[in-house]
Amino acid sequence: MRHGTGMTSQRTRDRLIQRLYEEGLSNAHVLEVIRRTPRHLFVDEALSHRAYEDTALPIGHNQTISQPFMVARMSELLLAAGPLDKVLEIGTGSGYQTAILSQLVERVFSVERIQALQERAKERLAELKLRNVVFRWGDGWEGWPALAPYNGIIVTAAAADVPQALLDQLAPGGRLVIPVGVGEVQQLMLIIREEDGFSRHLLDTVRFVPLLNGPVV
Ligand code: SAH
Repeated sequence: MRHGTGMTSQRTRDRLIQRLYEEGLSNAHVLEVIRRTPRHLFVDEALSHRAYEDTALPIGHNQTISQPFMVARMSELLLAAGPLDKVLEIGTGSGYQTAILSQLVERVFSVERIQALQERAKERLAELKLRNVVFRWGDGWEGWPALAPYNGIIVTAAAADVPQALLDQLAPGGRLVIPVGVGEVQQLMLIIREEDGFSRHLLDTVRFVPLLNGPVV
């Protein structure tokens, strides 16, 4: 494992946390988990000097590791009503958001359509000894019905519409955080399963890669 020096040192990481805090992220538990999680292990070594900038970075296959601000924001939204035991994540990517979530909730179920990305993410989580995550190679539009319902669902790619399967797989009181929209106009949505239907809350304007169809090798 590469150890933090210079641009990946603890001081560099602390600066990122300070910045997130100043931008209004206030969940101390979420910030602490981000502080102690080595984001540089989730990007190519050639990019590791930029790992603690608050920016998305390429991870190959036309995909990106999410911006730390967005990882913190979505985690806060998921956790805002209390602790969660079962969380479904759509879009494992590098596994960074997965690693953060796995330290905040009891169990994470993570679906990715690109097999190569998923394999790499699995290795990283094993290296970090984060063991409460189960991975599935498949199409996130379908969720993961066999293990439903989930108390939280997080989607890290933008969908044109909210996938019906994800609504169906939300437990009562469960929370779904998802960027919705096509092209560059997307909005983060929080959807909560209430006793008599769903409440929908439109939040920040965001920019994610699109939620695509079908699994690929
Ligand atoms: N949270 C990830 C973000 C990765 S980018 C990280 O921080 O690294 C979004 C990811 O969603 C990509 O890996 C992409 O392959 C995946 N994705 C897109 N459409 C999908 C689908 N239908 N099912 C599952 N994963 C999908």
